Amino acid sequence: MISSDQRQKAIVAAMSRPEGAPRPAGEPPVDETFGADVFSRAEMQRRLPKSVYRSLLRTLDDGEPLAPQLADTVACAMKQWAVENGATHYTHWFQPLTGSTAEKHDALITVDGRGGVQFSLSGSELVQSEPDASSFPSGGLRATFEARGYTAWDATSPAFLVRNSGEVTLVIPTAFVSWTGAALDQKTPLLRSMDALSHHAVRVLRLLGADGGVRRVMATAGCEQEYFLVDRNLYAARPDLMTCERTLFGAKPPKGQQLEDHYFGAIPPRVLAFMGEVERELYRVGVPVKTRHNEVAPGQFELAPIFETANIACDHQMLVMETLRRVAHRHGLQALLHEKPFAGVNGSGKHLNWSLATDAGNNLLDPRDDTHANVVFLVFLCAVVRAVDMHGDLLRMSVASASNDHRLGANEAPPAIISIFLGDMLTDLIEQLERGAPERTMKGGAIDLGTSSLPKIPRDSGDRNRTSPFAFTGNKFEFRAVGAGQTVAWPTTVLNTIVAESLDYVANELEAASGGDPAKVRGAVTGLLQDIIKKHKRVIFNGDNYSAEWHAEAERRGLPNLRDCITALPVLGAAKNVELFAKYRVLNPTEVESRTHIATEKYAKELLIESEAMVLLGRQLILPAALAQQTLLAQSVGACKAAGIECADTSAQLRAFVDLTARYNGTLEALDEADNHQDADPFQHASYMKSKVVPLMAELRRLGDELETRVASHLWPLPSYRELLFVK
Ligand code: ADP
Ligand code: MG
Repeated sequence: MISSDQRQKAIVAAMSRPEGAPRPAGEPPVDETFGADVFSRAEMQRRLPKSVYRSLLRTLDDGEPLAPQLADTVACAMKQWAVENGATHYTHWFQPLTGSTAEKHDALITVDGRGGVQFSLSGSELVQSEPDASSFPSGGLRATFEARGYTAWDATSPAFLVRNSGEVTLVIPTAFVSWTGAALDQKTPLLRSMDALSHHAVRVLRLLGADGGVRRVMATAGCEQEYFLVDRNLYAARPDLMTCERTLFGAKPPKGQQLEDHYFGAIPPRVLAFMGEVERELYRVGVPVKTRHNEVAPGQFELAPIFETANIACDHQMLVMETLRRVAHRHGLQALLHEKPFAGVNGSGKHLNWSLATDAGNNLLDPRDDTHANVVFLVFLCAVVRAVDMHGDLLRMSVASASNDHRLGANEAPPAIISIFLGDMLTDLIEQLERGAPERTMKGGAIDLGTSSLPKIPRDSGDRNRTSPFAFTGNKFEFRAVGAGQTVAWPTTVLNTIVAESLDYVANELEAASGGDPAKVRGAVTGLLQDIIKKHKRVIFNGDNYSAEWHAEAERRGLPNLRDCITALPVLGAAKNVELFAKYRVLNPTEVESRTHIATEKYAKELLIESEAMVLLGRQLILPAALAQQTLLAQSVGACKAAGIECADTSAQLRAFVDLTARYNGTLEALDEADNHQDADPFQHASYMKSKVVPLMAELRRLGDELETRVASHLWPLPSYRELLFVK
């Protein structure tokens, strides 16, 4: 455990770190290294017989199943490539419902029967593997003794190499299912939702006569990742950060983010060196990282890639999180992806930018110039508005976690009320649509900067709104309520599914209204969109989502406000949602039930871990420091008395301190007792944790932080916010 002595040493070590090591000279430029560790299409084309490559493309582009007899050929080429690049092992990489990724490595060898080995990867090893599934959460889908689970190759997400400590591993992205075929992971439902979305989007395009040979429509995603960096020396001196990735105690420092001087500030050299290395590692595995900057809170940063097909973007997002954590260590840093590592300053989120693109790369949510005449855009826009209004509760549920509860609705992140920001131009169009066929598109004009030496810059047709949970941002939607540490696959799955349902509805309505006569479809569109707007415009809100007025207004509009996990998690099991997932074959009712179970259990367990960590920290570190301070004060009172000095102040202070320590100790005991409560039913347990344990933790923290500001610095064992938050 930590002593105040060690704390001092950690602080000195953190402050005296050298600046980031300069980038090694002679490294090849990014256009040479990008994707160098990916078994890319170019690489496949080079290594595979033409006919095999062509049928593989049909799987990749058209979603056709891969002919089993091709697997051996593909596996052999993949192995050859991997071995040439130094790989010794391969792994089926998957995303179980733990929220992280899982991997088990196998050597790329087989014995040759003559006492030697040779490199090998068979078709069946590539396509399928059978990890022992019993230790992954299944939410009752599988009893522990029924351990069978399978990973199945997802050919649409390219295999790649991971280089770590000199070891090179061939990583094969896979889906993870049970023996009965039930999804035990994040990827399976995501892929299913992409199929449903594509199917109904293509139907709508065909009806509108706008398909132009489109065979598939893909969801696209680009995820901005916020994170904190703290010095590893200080991190190691904070048991709460090490166990929970968030501080359970910590008094507010004099300087937090009040001066707003961190956002977009100059990136500290050590951090820049770290970011550069993260980017170079990500480039090698084909993640197109584009943006890096300081975020609002001190010690907080952001990374954003260029968007990709949603499935690949979600895999890449997992790689981004892993790479941030791994590379940080090499720079003496710890990356924190928790949604709220520090109280009193902003938490971290992940903006899920989402749109729809045809296989020819056409963005269906691009309004273009004469938007009022862009029927395809208007139809897809209205389908999204309808989806978000009808299933805002599900979107909210998709981002619910114990850690995100600290962030949503806290004036730094969107509220738990799901609404859509459209901006002036689209709102004007929506109003026109409500009256009939729209006739004009609002233009932004130009901004005159008032000096001839600066050019006139075009003005966007609407301002931005940073407070909305679901904002239209030019040619995509941005779902901002996603937590920083979350797998983005699940919110993407929900978004895909609810929009698939809306497009299905649109297609059915258009088919019915036109009686299958293409000439009548366009006429039917106006009436349909008018109807959709009338029914669903309540979800559109362009004002300040943080304001109290909005909360009242949203309630009047009947929009759900699911403030925490206890209200948000049960939404998944609601009849309308179970039916929705079943209808689009994204999750069957049993799979839905298992997911609710797992999420609820995870919530309760995370709180249990935090509260136990808090009790330990309180007993082992904070209380002893408080008692030492008490002794100091008592000694001072004694010394004053002995010297015959008036000491009213000191003794009053001592009494106040004794009282504070006693209250602290009392809360600690109450919390310890509350911890013993465990329910067989996870929801009961979760509700208990929320109603009893969370308030006790808040009270303990308040008292603990009060003690921190009253105990002598040399007695305090934990690095303070002042030290933690400013990475040098
Ligand atoms: P912001 O709008 O938050 O200031 P950017 O305009 O740079 O930031 O874009 C944020 C993210 O949106 C980036 O990751 C970008 O790749 C992604 N993005 C842009 N266009 C699309 C799209 N059509 N589909 C999905 N994501 C997109
Ligand atoms: Mg953004």
